[in-house]
Amino acid sequence: MKFVCYKEFDDPAEPSFPGLLHKGRTLPLARVVAVAEALNPRGLSVPEDLNQLVSVLPTYAAALKELEAAKILDKIWQEVGVAPAAPLPRPNRILAIGRNYAEHAAELGNAAPTEPIVFQKASSSVIAPGTPIIILSGVGRVDFEGELAVVIGKAGKNVPENEAMALVAGYTLFNDVTARDEQKQAQARGLPWFLAKSYDTFGPLGPCLVTPDEIPDPHALELTLTVNGEVRQQANTSQMLFSIPQLIAYLSRKMALEPGDIIATGTPPGVGPLHIGDTVEVSIPEIGTLSNPVVGPDFADVVEME
Ligand code: ZN
Repeated sequence: MKFVCYKEFDDPAEPSFPGLLHKGRTLPLARVVAVAEALNPRGLSVPEDLNQLVSVLPTYAAALKELEAAKILDKIWQEVGVAPAAPLPRPNRILAIGRNYAEHAAELGNAAPTEPIVFQKASSSVIAPGTPIIILSGVGRVDFEGELAVVIGKAGKNVPENEAMALVAGYTLFNDVTARDEQKQAQARGLPWFLAKSYDTFGPLGPCLVTPDEIPDPHALELTLTVNGEVRQQANTSQMLFSIPQLIAYLSRKMALEPGDIIATGTPPGVGPLHIGDTVEVSIPEIGTLSNPVVGPDFADVVEME
């Protein structure tokens, strides 16, 4: 199953709604669930909080399969706007993993870590597919980082590796856009690099949330990042130093994981700078493509003036 978020109008102030992606169409999840309940009542509901929604997605599986088998999903239609939103427009937390691919650690002059390097990135950095990444003047070099994102659907504390995957609601794509010069300056001074990762618009997320039944092995995915159509990163998630169960077990020993948390699993080698006018795309065939244009500060002024 592929879930999306959408807005009925392309306006930052508009609320986001959950949808089911079916044969290229966005069906409002509230409508799909209402039809499923009319057909065969199971007590399903659609939570208003999109972060909590991920915890109930598995309960929809049987109902959605039933609708699919009866070809009812094909008939559900309700005119909805399709302005995309990030699958979780404001994730509970973004827990990002640094240097989780050995070659990427080497290219920035770092040793491969012996335990996961975890940093937090502000949830407010998240933007939808198609929304511009804004590079403000004076920021210096800003890099792309294509990553597989794991969305947590179930709370867990002290979760052993062999039970870790039960916490996963699904997978999506993330571009961990980074003010690289600022990050390096902070690192050199022994300071946190939170702000270098947390500029507004530095967290493209999407295009959809794919449930684990469609991705039986998340450690066998081809990740590609292009800038203006030119391949800049290409790797297989099998090359991660710490696997998803290892990351979940490690994190949950220290902090309880919560529905709506996102684990950004780290970027493969090939990171490089973004420039105003570029279009950056992250893709994994099983998930889709996350495409965002890059704009300059003039665009930010325009948005603020509106
Ligand atoms: Zn990263």
